[in-house]
Amino acid sequence: MVEDMKGKIRVFCRIRPMSKVELSRGSSPVVDCLDDYSVTVDTPRGLKEFQFDKVLGMISSQEDVFQDVSRLIQSAVDGFNVCIFAYGQTGSGKTFTMVGDKDLRNPGIMPRAFRTIFDIMQENTSKFDFKVWTYMLELYNERLLDLFVCPTDALSKKIEIKKDKKGLVFAHGAETKEAASAEELFALFEQGCANRHIAATKMNLESSRSHLIVGITVESTNLTNGSVNYGKLSLVDLAGSERAAKTGARDDQLKEANSINKSLSALGDVIFALSTEQAHVPYRNNKLTQLMQDSLGGNAKTLMFVNISASSCSMEETLTSLMYATRVKAITNNAQKNSESKEIAQLREVGGSDELTLTILSLFLGPGPLRAWP
Ligand code: ADP
Ligand code: MG
Repeated sequence: MVEDMKGKIRVFCRIRPMSKVELSRGSSPVVDCLDDYSVTVDTPRGLKEFQFDKVLGMISSQEDVFQDVSRLIQSAVDGFNVCIFAYGQTGSGKTFTMVGDKDLRNPGIMPRAFRTIFDIMQENTSKFDFKVWTYMLELYNERLLDLFVCPTDALSKKIEIKKDKKGLVFAHGAETKEAASAEELFALFEQGCANRHIAATKMNLESSRSHLIVGITVESTNLTNGSVNYGKLSLVDLAGSERAAKTGARDDQLKEANSINKSLSALGDVIFALSTEQAHVPYRNNKLTQLMQDSLGGNAKTLMFVNISASSCSMEETLTSLMYATRVKAITNNAQKNSESKEIAQLREVGGSDELTLTILSLFLGPGPLRAWP
């Protein structure tokens, strides 16, 4: 029943093509992909080469990107904990990759994943009974906000990051909504997006100054033997990794930039500790690292996109991002399928059994996560 998979975090590098503004300013491309796995940056100190699990060049389409991602969506439906996140400086294409462009003429990973989850479920309705829930959070100025409640109410709502006995992270107190179709899931997503904090900076007019976390859980009950699998898909669009000075941020925006930098540097510390196999990993230093604890060095199948711009004017940030991503590549996760037997699932269904009883019973009845599901 338990399928183990030890594996490195996979890192894909995506290069954004030069924008009209960059070209009109006289910038030139300094990034090139040698093959599907290697990227080079032309620096004043010579050509620097980096290797990743995949390099998606300037002409890569949203379809190309999703092709390599769809297997992970299958894993989430199968009962694995899956995390896909995008890292990079503002304007490098994180939101384009994760969400898509503004009018969704070029939908990104999130809308495609919503569709794929329901397509996979549709193909398996004769064998499984499925349920899908979602929650949506924004980490803004060190505060975790529930995007399914209106912004004024969200400020007074306390969300705590907790871990279940299997080490799976969940957001205690966050609203979870059930979705019966890809359309419903997408409508919930749009509703959440409308509650986000967005400010204009010099580098990217609509850059998001907060981290966006979309969580989707898939419960599947095997109709033959009654066993239940719980899959979790976390889709994370991180805020920009650049230094505050370059974006021209002031006052409120500087505060935001500082707190973004704080959480990303905490993420950097966690990545450093994991990649150098330190005994202590400082997950607790920041809410972002607490939230991503099961995705980095935990039990998730994790894919990181490092988004970079090809332009000469972003060269320093590009090098920093690529070095950061190189560290992430070294981290090993231990992915495990989350399943529980029919008996345990039934006990949970009827309620009245405390976690201790369920734990003891699970020792007799088989492996599985014991956590409070919505
Ligand atoms: P970020 O989220 O990293 O700040 P965005 O995803 O908002 O950056 O991208 C900045 C701009 O570049 C947007 O107008 C976006 O549509 C465009 N863009 C990003 N990546 C690509 C790409 N691969 N192809 C075409 N346009 C892109
Ligand atoms: Mg963005």
